[in-house]
Amino acid sequence: MDATEFRSRGKEMVDYVADYLANIEQRPVYSDVKPGYLRSLIPTEAPLEPEDYEDVIKDVERVIMPGVTHWHSPYFYAYFPTASSYPAMLADMLCGAIGSMGFTWASNPVCTELETVMLDWLGKMLKLPEHFIAGTHGQGGGVIQGTASEATLMSVLAARSKAIQQVQASNPGLPEAQILPKLVAYTSEQAHSSVERASLIGGILMRKVPTDDNYAVGGVMFEKMLEEDKAAGLIPFYLCATLGTTPSCGFDHITELGPICKKENMWMHIDAAYAGSAFICPEFRPLLNGVEFADSFNFNPHKWLLTNFDCSTMWVKKRDDITGVFKHSEQPFYLKHDSQDSGLVTDYRNWQIPHGRRFRSLKLWFVFRMYGVQGLQAHIRKQVALAKEFESLVRADQRFEICAEVIMGLVCFRLKGSNQLTELLLKRITESREIHLVPCQLSGRFVLRFAICSRTTDSRHIRQAWNHITRLTSEILQDPDQ
Ligand code: PLP
Repeated sequence: MDATEFRSRGKEMVDYVADYLANIEQRPVYSDVKPGYLRSLIPTEAPLEPEDYEDVIKDVERVIMPGVTHWHSPYFYAYFPTASSYPAMLADMLCGAIGSMGFTWASNPVCTELETVMLDWLGKMLKLPEHFIAGTHGQGGGVIQGTASEATLMSVLAARSKAIQQVQASNPGLPEAQILPKLVAYTSEQAHSSVERASLIGGILMRKVPTDDNYAVGGVMFEKMLEEDKAAGLIPFYLCATLGTTPSCGFDHITELGPICKKENMWMHIDAAYAGSAFICPEFRPLLNGVEFADSFNFNPHKWLLTNFDCSTMWVKKRDDITGVFKHSEQPFYLKHDSQDSGLVTDYRNWQIPHGRRFRSLKLWFVFRMYGVQGLQAHIRKQVALAKEFESLVRADQRFEICAEVIMGLVCFRLKGSNQLTELLLKRITESREIHLVPCQLSGRFVLRFAICSRTTDSRHIRQAWNHITRLTSEILQDPDQ
C-alpha cells in the first residue's frame, strides 16, 4: 500500500468506524460464537502472495465481527467501562503513524515530556498533593503504565526494594534471601486479582484483609493483622488499598489506613482503576482524602476518562523509589545519552516493566483539550446519574434488592431469595444477547453487576434494559418448575 492508496483506504476506514459506532445498537451486544469458531473461517497458513485490501476488508464482517463482544454498545453493562472517544482514536492513529519508542528521553523527547506534563495536568485536575506533581523540580511525578496491573506490580517491586534496603541498613550483611520470606504485604479480600498476581511475581507473601459491611477495609482489622504478623516475626511492608473495588465499587478507608502505614513505615499504594476518574469532580474528591499518605496512586483513564485503552496513570511520591527497582541492572551502551545525568530528563523505561513504550500521552492531550475538564466531569456525572436511575427502578420492584451502596456508575442487585434464582436470571439475560452483564459474589450471595459503560448509554437504554430484566424475571417466577 502506498501513500495514495493509504489516503483513500484511510478515509474508508474512518467511515467504517463511524458507521460501526453509529449503528452499534443494531448488533447483538454479546457474541454467540462457539469456542474455536474462527479456525474454520480462515486458512491454516499465512498467504504467500500479497492479497488485495478489498478481500481483507470484506473479511472483517465475515470473520471478525461475529466474534466481537461490543463493549461500546449502550446495552453493554458488564465488568467496568473501557473508554472510547473520537479524539482519543484520532490521537492513537497519529501515535501509530509517528510510531516512535519512548524508552529514554533521547529515544523520543516529546513522548517523555508530554507524558510528564499531562500527568501534572491530570494530577492537578484530581487535586493530588503537591509531592505527586513533577513540575520542573519535583521529587515525585507521574507515568503512564499500560494497565493498573503493571502499576500495582511496579509499586510492589518498589516497596520490596525499599524494605530490603531498610532491613539491611539495620542488619548489615543480612542476605536478601533471608529477608524476602519475612516480608508481608496486605490488600483487601475484595481487591482485584491483579494485586495477588503482583505479589506472586514479586515473590512475597500477601495477606487479604477482611472487609466491613460496605466491603471496605478499615483501620481496626488492618492493625489487628499487623500485630499478629509482627508477633510472628514477619515484616509488614506494603498495603494496596482499593478505591472502587471491582465487585461492588467499595472504598477502603484510606484516611484510617494511611496513618497506620506511615507509623509502620509501610508503602501504601492506591488502586483506583475505575473510580479514579470521578475524582476530577469536586463532589467525589472527598473519597480520595488520605491520598496524601500514599507512596503511589494509580487509576485508568482507559476505563472512565474517555481515553481508549491503554492508558493507566500512576503517580509516585518519590521517583527514586520506583527507579530504584532497576538500579542494579546494567545500562546498555546504546541507551546512554548526553542528557541522562542532567537532572532535567526522565527515562521512563526505569519506571515500568517493559522496555518499549508507545506515545500514549498524545491521547490524553487530545482528550483534555477537546473535552475540557468540564466536558469530562459532565461524562462522569451523566453516567453516575444513569446508575442512580437504574437503582431507583430496582428499588421500586419488591422482587429485587440492592446489594451495595451505589456511589458511582455500578449497581449491584439480585432477586430476593435463593442464589439459583439470580443465576437463572443471568443465564436468561446472557442467552437473550440483548444486554450483557456479569455477576459477582458478595457475602456468599450471587449478585448481578450493572455497570454503566458505553459513552452513548442514555436513559432510554436504561429503561429498556430494566424492562428486559423484569420481563425475563416474570417468566422465571411464573415457571411452575421454579
Ligand atoms: N484494579 C481494579 C480495582 C479493577 O477494577 C481492575 C479492572 O477492572 C484492575 C485493577 C485491572 O485493571 P487493568 O486491566 O488495567 O490491569
